Amino acid sequence: RLYNEVQDLKGNIRVYVRIRPFLPGQNKKQTTIEYIGENGELVVVNPSKQGKDSHRLFKFNKVFGPSATQEEVFLDTQPLIRSVLDGFNVCIFAYGQTGSGKTYTMTGPNASSKQDWGVNYRALNDLFHISQNRRSSFIYEVGVQMVEIYNEQVRDLLSSDAVPDASMHPVKSTTNVLELMKIGLMNRAVGATALNERSSRSHSVLTVHVRGTDMETSAALRGSLHLVDLAGSERVDRSEATGDRLKEAQHINKSLSALGDVIFALAQKSSHVPYRNSKLTQVLQSSLGGQAKTLMFVQLNPDVDSHSETLSTLKFAERVS
Ligand code: ADP
Ligand code: MG
Repeated sequence: RLYNEVQDLKGNIRVYVRIRPFLPGQNKKQTTIEYIGENGELVVVNPSKQGKDSHRLFKFNKVFGPSATQEEVFLDTQPLIRSVLDGFNVCIFAYGQTGSGKTYTMTGPNASSKQDWGVNYRALNDLFHISQNRRSSFIYEVGVQMVEIYNEQVRDLLSSDAVPDASMHPVKSTTNVLELMKIGLMNRAVGATALNERSSRSHSVLTVHVRGTDMETSAALRGSLHLVDLAGSERVDRSEATGDRLKEAQHINKSLSALGDVIFALAQKSSHVPYRNSKLTQVLQSSLGGQAKTLMFVQLNPDVDSHSETLSTLKFAERVS
């Protein structure tokens, strides 16, 4: 196992926190992140409290501060991605409130600038590069699927044919992937008045299937990679949300708790893992649990006004790590 560098950490679940920078125009007066340690420590401060109750220490596998680049983040993700070529199922998702940088981490702000590429383009690029240059008798075939889960309905973003399973698209290069994802992102916008609005309330799942065949022995192996940009985790005020907005919020809430419950059960090595409780966990089932490896990016907005969302995001992450 050449690329199995990622050691079995806590049942194969790792948690990386990423704090995005203040944006131009965003009021920089105060941050809720008081300290970032070298070994995954993070101290969050609540400015409206006094004394030791105002601070809380968390510890995860890694914390990326506001100046971390896309490349730095990817370097710590790469070994996991490469293990897909050894037949592992890997699931990487970004969790956090809307505006915390989930899409920035997973996709990046600009597909046409390589430096800006997020985890998904870099992952595919790396898989092609490694599989083509690896000196072994294996040849690899790669296929991708892209779906959106909105209100517990799965929608294929790469085909409009109504078939039960999402369409699979063979890809041979990063360029193929970029073209497909462009189509997927365009389809995601169809029917939505404002793309950001809709995309923050649906989960998007890019699945990469890899099949390797040993040309000498004909032995085959399969690995898969799920790259998930989750719906915004912010709590919706029940007194304000009504109708469709309330329904969306309830679906998001349900699926994110189902995801939390599944990862928690896996971390506890529980004999019952409740995959059936949401569409999201059903779609991700093959890459959660068993021999699968999971990485969660916990995205944070540094603003003091996000303090309570930041705390609830970190508590979600703490429970599953
Ligand atoms: P989300 O997908 O969680 O709603 P986005 O990824 O859209 O959040 O990020 C919100 C805004 O912050 C965007 O304008 C994005 O470009 C910017 N942003 C997020 N993370 C970073 C980062 N690490 N560096 C610079 N800008 C970022
Ligand atoms: Mg987003």
